[in-house]
Amino acid sequence: MDAEIIAIGSELLLGVTIDTNSAYLARQLAAAGVNVYRKTVVGDNEGRITAAVREALERADLVICTGGLGPTLDDVTREAVAAALDRPLEFHPELLDQIAARFAAMNRPMSESNRRQAYVPAGARIIPNPRGTAPAFLVEDERGTVIVLPGVPGEMRYLFETAVLPYLRDERGITTVILVRTLHAVGLGESVIGERIADLMQQANPTVGISAKRARYELRIGARAESQAEAEAMIAQTEAIIRERLGPYLLGEEDLPATVARLLRERQQTIALYEGIAQAPVFKALLSLPNVEQVLRGAEIHPLDSPADAQASSDLAYAGAANVAERWQSTIGLGVQSASGPNDQGFTAVSLALVTPDGERRLTRPFDLRSADGFEFIGTAALDLLRRYLNGESE
Ligand code: AMP
Ligand code: MG
Repeated sequence: MDAEIIAIGSELLLGVTIDTNSAYLARQLAAAGVNVYRKTVVGDNEGRITAAVREALERADLVICTGGLGPTLDDVTREAVAAALDRPLEFHPELLDQIAARFAAMNRPMSESNRRQAYVPAGARIIPNPRGTAPAFLVEDERGTVIVLPGVPGEMRYLFETAVLPYLRDERGITTVILVRTLHAVGLGESVIGERIADLMQQANPTVGISAKRARYELRIGARAESQAEAEAMIAQTEAIIRERLGPYLLGEEDLPATVARLLRERQQTIALYEGIAQAPVFKALLSLPNVEQVLRGAEIHPLDSPADAQASSDLAYAGAANVAERWQSTIGLGVQSASGPNDQGFTAVSLALVTPDGERRLTRPFDLRSADGFEFIGTAALDLLRRYLNGESE
């Protein structure tokens, strides 16, 4: 099936509003296996909308329009689509009742202009819109199918997902199944991850994409297939390859805080924190653990004058970790201390130390603390240090 998209609204032509609706529809249709060969943007002008719909119908089987369904006189999509299909507009009292009920529920008076929204082209199928006043509609004409959705992005998406996709699947035989699985990774640079899975990221199906947030990575595998089972098998196969390439840096479907919280509970460990950095990045990271109260015994935020060198900062982190573990009777102590900085390149050495039933682990690494983001990297590094210890991985 070939489709075209028509975005309607003078604000789109003026560049005041960015046409995000067309991009959304294009992605959705592509994912469903529907070819989109053209997108048109047209202003709120009846003649030009009519012409755009007619032209699109000459080329495509399906035309999806968004915008211009509002109650005001500049919203002329209904009239224009009716004209393009050579059909009169018909008044639907039940639509007016629904619109009136919506205004009554919001305790606002309905204006006379809302009456216009109760008209749809003759023979159209109405798509009720519980998210707004403008009902959408679908017309199956011998020249092709025209679907008209509201311009408000939230309403448009809702109606696309709840009405248009089911229509395409159930009535137009589009059986494509799309499955997406998100995997989390941590501890490797984005460029390193990118290099290790470069070939996967270039393949068309399943697709693999990465997004990065402060040294935490989300890898999305998207598979398109003719059945659920086939899509699942494709995803499993790609996941296995990614797992092999990233090794211990790949977490799975669980993100870093959830993984650490689960491991702490499974290993029956508790934690206490000593943090010598006023911005308390590790404390903030620990607060993101689900049910943190079950695993965090205590925290001391005690910014000191930063020692000059990394060895001294590591020793302070270690001493702080041992101290809080004893004070709050936790099985693990975690210490954080920064050395004085930044150096000429803008980096500050930060030391992390773990005191555990199996001995100590230490890590000192440079972080760029000139922006707030830099502190979040420290939080990620601390959670990952905990994760690797709890998982029994080598340092
Ligand atoms: P309309 O249905 O034309 O009255 O549009 C309602 C609102 O949705 C407008 O205020 C626009 O800002 C927004 N809108 C309309 N069309 C689009 C579009 N193609 N992309 C993003 N926003 C849109
Ligand atoms: Mg408009």
